[in-house]
Amino acid sequence: MAPIQKECDYLVIGGGSGGLASARRASGMYGAKAIAIENKRLGGTCVNVGCVPKKITWSAASIAETIKEAKAYGFSVDTTAPFDWPMFKKKRDAYIKRLNGIYEKNLKNDKVEYLHGTASFVDTHTVKVLLDNSTEVSIKAKNILVAVGGHPAPPPKIPGGELGINSDGFFDLEKQPKKVAIVGAGYIAVEFAGMFHALGTETHLFIRHDTFLRTFDPMIQEKVTAEYERQGVHLHKQSSQSKVEDLGDGRMRLHYKDSNGEGSFEVDTLLWAIGRTPELEKLNLGVTKVSQNEKGHIKTDDYQNTNIDNIFALGDVCDRGFELTPVAIAAGRRLADRLFGGQADAHLDYSNIPSVVFSHPTVGSIGMTEPAARKEFGDESIKVYNSSFTAMYYSMMEQDDKGPTSYKLVCKGKEEKVVGMHILGIASDEILQGFGVAIKMGATKADFDRCVAIHPTSAEELVTMK
Ligand code: FAD
Ligand code: NDP
Repeated sequence: MAPIQKECDYLVIGGGSGGLASARRASGMYGAKAIAIENKRLGGTCVNVGCVPKKITWSAASIAETIKEAKAYGFSVDTTAPFDWPMFKKKRDAYIKRLNGIYEKNLKNDKVEYLHGTASFVDTHTVKVLLDNSTEVSIKAKNILVAVGGHPAPPPKIPGGELGINSDGFFDLEKQPKKVAIVGAGYIAVEFAGMFHALGTETHLFIRHDTFLRTFDPMIQEKVTAEYERQGVHLHKQSSQSKVEDLGDGRMRLHYKDSNGEGSFEVDTLLWAIGRTPELEKLNLGVTKVSQNEKGHIKTDDYQNTNIDNIFALGDVCDRGFELTPVAIAAGRRLADRLFGGQADAHLDYSNIPSVVFSHPTVGSIGMTEPAARKEFGDESIKVYNSSFTAMYYSMMEQDDKGPTSYKLVCKGKEEKVVGMHILGIASDEILQGFGVAIKMGATKADFDRCVAIHPTSAEELVTMK
């Protein structure tokens, strides 16, 4: 059967955070004829296997922590009652399904045509879409946005490596593992280890060095690593894995080396969290001659332009180095403003982007780390303010049960412009957003100090640092 022919102003490949935001703005706000293509579930990584189900699970883990801590405040609680993982998963899945439906409705409201199928380039203006019912659609588009995101990096090539799951598989787990091994040292490994541990799974985290979150400020790396050890997460430092043995019935034995030598043990679940790679396998991008970097990410300039005039890229698939939902959304909206809204200079400013690690406790970070600032501006231009204290929340608890709070401001020059802020402790995830606005506006230490503290909070420490 001959393919169905379509034409449009804006073809968006990928129905995730960035693609949907861009398509909706182009069509809903500016009236461009937009088509969006998605081959899995609308909402992409964030909604289906990322931020949303992760945050819900993080909330469950936080409740588990609060239940334990409630005793110190005089509550009689049964801390041995099991967590109903299957019930929780069913409710979480249902919520995500509802969101998928809302995303589809939003596309309709904004008059974006939505095709469920897999897109691949035919040439720089033509994309073929294979729909679920095997019908082929050929679309000619004036502008094409590649917003196909990424997927977990494959497991290392060791015998049995494929027996492990990745972050996508985490959200499919029907039962709570009794014992889990997680390999990795980034956002995902640290978040998942924190959640498993708080929910009562024996958690082993394998890292290649002595700390995790190594792209963060050293204060964050050291404090969170030490806090995970204090809480009882089993950290395997300087580690590597040699093989995974299949013991049948879903059980496996992990063979490894760490700073204590060689070892092996049985786990219910092994989870690789060793980074992500762009999802370009089905796109036939080669035919367009769009440039990619050595890791496969699409090269873009500040305006999300690729080297091909009418092809743009954003979000996790592009090479800007920020794999975060709000970054993809903001870049997508600005691109639509520029292409269809007459705003010739609209683009996302990639400086001072705040981000949070949903560890236990949470971490917030914006701007430069202390070493990066010292390297760029010289030691003499940098002044650092540090504060470590025990949040009042812990006042009712025994010494051994108290979590850390640590804040750092990295300031530059005589005017002490705040070029980096790194915080760790209860509610750091919520605290960072407002300070992010101030830092984005160019706030100095004196500006921070001029703001009257809110008492008693942890965040007040940020406007009273000496
Ligand atoms: P995606 O959301 O991945 O969307 C791309 C879409 O394109 C996918 O749905 C895919 O199916 C589709 N696609 C791919 N190829 C084709 C094709 N050929 N044809 C048709 N469709 C195709 N970010 C945060 O800001 N906060 C968080 O707390 C957070 N937590 C995370 C937790 C986890 C476990 C993970 C994995 C990520 C997390 N992220 C978080 C990152 C965030 O999810 C991503 O940065 C964001 O989803 C990227 O958006 P995107 O539009 O670039 O791609
Ligand atoms: P990251 O790139 O953040 O971290 C992966 C880390 O794993 C590497 O930095 C490396 O650290 C370690 N690693 C790599 N290979 C191996 C290996 N073979 N064995 C052991 N460790 C290894 O990737 P993630 O998958 O954690 O997350 C991907 C992105 O998704 C993040 O960068 C983030 O942008 C986004 N995300 C955001 C979240 C949020 O906003 N809260 C939450 C989750 C994801 P080292 O060099 O120290 O060994």
